[in-house]
Amino acid sequence: RSKSGGRNRYTFFAPEMQHEALKERAVEQELRLAIERNELCLHYQPLLNAKHGKVIGAEVLVRWPHPQRGLIPPFEFIPIAEKTGLISLLDDWVLETAIKQVKTWLKQDIPAVTLSVNISANRLNQKDFAQFVQEKIKSYHIPPDFLCIEITEQNMIENLDNVQSTLCHLQQLGIKIALDDFGTGYSSLSYLKRLPVDKLKIDRTFVMEMHEDPQDRAIIKTILELGHGLGIWVNAEGVENEIQIGMLRELGVDEFQGFYFSRPLPREEFEEKYLAQLIALEN
Ligand code: C2E
Ligand code: MG
Ligand code: MG
Ligand code: MG
Repeated sequence: RSKSGGRNRYTFFAPEMQHEALKERAVEQELRLAIERNELCLHYQPLLNAKHGKVIGAEVLVRWPHPQRGLIPPFEFIPIAEKTGLISLLDDWVLETAIKQVKTWLKQDIPAVTLSVNISANRLNQKDFAQFVQEKIKSYHIPPDFLCIEITEQNMIENLDNVQSTLCHLQQLGIKIALDDFGTGYSSLSYLKRLPVDKLKIDRTFVMEMHEDPQDRAIIKTILELGHGLGIWVNAEGVENEIQIGMLRELGVDEFQGFYFSRPLPREEFEEKYLAQLIALEN
């Protein structure tokens, strides 16, 4: 490493960088094929109403079942997909697969629940996004409120006007909008004023230690007051124990998500454990 440090040192690591770049290219090509061949899969993590404890939805989380490397978690390929632009293809695949799944449940008389889909900044900022969603909703013919789009604060900095018009379009269709990982980005209150947000998801880093950290509790309480003051539904993600549940209930959280209730599950298991239970409740 050169003493002057800084940017210059990268010239010495050119071979290594090339290696990194090659690795990324290889992952990109493999991932593109996996998407095109329909080889990715979705896991479903239940969202529960904090008042009555029933499942009211699920967040869909992408997984890559790899023939050699097993089930690859998103943090190992989403960043590469974002860097290479492949994320738009991936997001569209996840979105369409989720819509298809709702359609299948409705056709099979399985009690369908709202599915929340994560959309990257990349995709959200493309001009055709709202139109794409509208067409898919129309062609599969599902009620739009079975779909919720999760975006992060990062998604917005690029072009707020563009994002605003896209989200307004989606909300007018009846699709729900959630602000994910809330409190970790450049949370600006003016975003909340300008954007049609239906749900805030308190980031799990605040929930994680709330039972021993009064500062985390203060932040959560503030997010709840803010959200409820604006008429927004508030989710707490990363709920792992009963102490958190008690505190979050007391603070007035509307929706729970976390390993305490369930990890993200393969579709069959989600249907058996959660949707079948809804049928039992109905009868
Ligand atoms: P996210 O949207 O904030 O999703 C929640 C993540 O927290 C999931 O990780 C979930 O498994 C994890 N989680 C849920 N409850 C708990 C808990 O109680 N404790 C702990 N420690 N973790 C919990 P996952 O599935 O690994 O996904 C990570 C991130 O990857 C997601 O964060 C999201 O940003 C991204 N991602 C996942 N699927 C997609 C996708 O289809 N498209 C895009 N663009 N991004 C995705
Ligand atoms: Mg999410
Ligand atoms: Mg989240
Ligand atoms: Mg998160």
